[in-house]
Amino acid sequence: MLESQTCLHNQVQHDGARNDWTRAEIAELFDLPFTELLFRAATVHRENHPPTEVQLCTLLSIKTGGCPEDCGYCSQSAHADSGVEATKLLDVQEVLQRAAQAKDQGSQRFCMGAAWRNPKDRDMPAIIQIVEGVAAMGMETCMTLGMLAPHQAEQLAEAGLDYYNHNVDTGPEYYDRVITTRKYQDRLDTLENVRNSGINVCSGGIVGMGETRDDRVGFIHTLATLPQHPESVPVNALVPVKGTPLGDMLADTPMAQIDDIEFVRTVAAARITMPLAMVRLSAGRESMSEAAQALCFMAGANSIFTGEKLLTAPNAGDDSDAALFKKLGLTALQGEEPARSCAKTPAETQNLTGADAT
Ligand code: SF4
Repeated sequence: MLESQTCLHNQVQHDGARNDWTRAEIAELFDLPFTELLFRAATVHRENHPPTEVQLCTLLSIKTGGCPEDCGYCSQSAHADSGVEATKLLDVQEVLQRAAQAKDQGSQRFCMGAAWRNPKDRDMPAIIQIVEGVAAMGMETCMTLGMLAPHQAEQLAEAGLDYYNHNVDTGPEYYDRVITTRKYQDRLDTLENVRNSGINVCSGGIVGMGETRDDRVGFIHTLATLPQHPESVPVNALVPVKGTPLGDMLADTPMAQIDDIEFVRTVAAARITMPLAMVRLSAGRESMSEAAQALCFMAGANSIFTGEKLLTAPNAGDDSDAALFKKLGLTALQGEEPARSCAKTPAETQNLTGADAT
């Protein structure tokens, strides 16, 4: 970790300087000549992060399919005709075994996803056992379980959960075109519950869902103007899956894959507006060229998911990642994330999250 960055996060957030981004400012970033945008993003990146280190995370689906939500991109929705079988919550020991394997393969963080609208209170004891078990291995823990009530966020915080993932998915204006079973505000409410509990926030979205650039500006604006920036910002490229509304709408059209340069612009905008966040290349990376991934790293992406699968979607795979890292001279992140190295006192956190998350 870079010594000089220790308290930058507090400065950025405490003086309020940079969570007041306007949409116009973010649109101007997107509009910059590409090389200029890349240079600015790379400059912000190396001021705040070790520039050649990339965090390795592993994602495991601990409860797959049968989700009552209707997220238009998701093969796990019960509304989709994607052929994904619904399963029960994995056994605690099986999850711990998979976490141990991920640790052996160099993963720093173990992320676990359950296809739920929200966890039921009866699920919480097993979830808590999983969090405690993975944390005891010395790995960072992250969960994504859908919407969280304040008391559930508190329970997870007490169990020692490091991160909770809940994506805003897209900009507020496009959101209703993607999901109808819950509102944008529901997403923001869960993020606020997570933040208030003291758990670190992981929140990002998906590009290439048929949205406009203005929607991508709105997506970055939502995250960059939260009272406190998310510590992790996953940026996904849609993997169109047949049988899902968006997969069927976009498959076999020129919009089936987001333009690489536009994707890199989105990564760069995330990096510039949220300098301390870990910006994660997530779904869609397996279909990107090595050159496009290299541009993403140049633009400030510094976290990836490893392994062959992301929940139900294919991923790049450990061997191809190792080869790419070697080719680019990148190494696995060893130190702590900058945003976490200046963890706040509960009183500071309360001050920062007291405002309405809108
Ligand atoms: S994205 Fe999550 S909440 Fe939405 S349908 Fe898929 S599993 Fe359910």
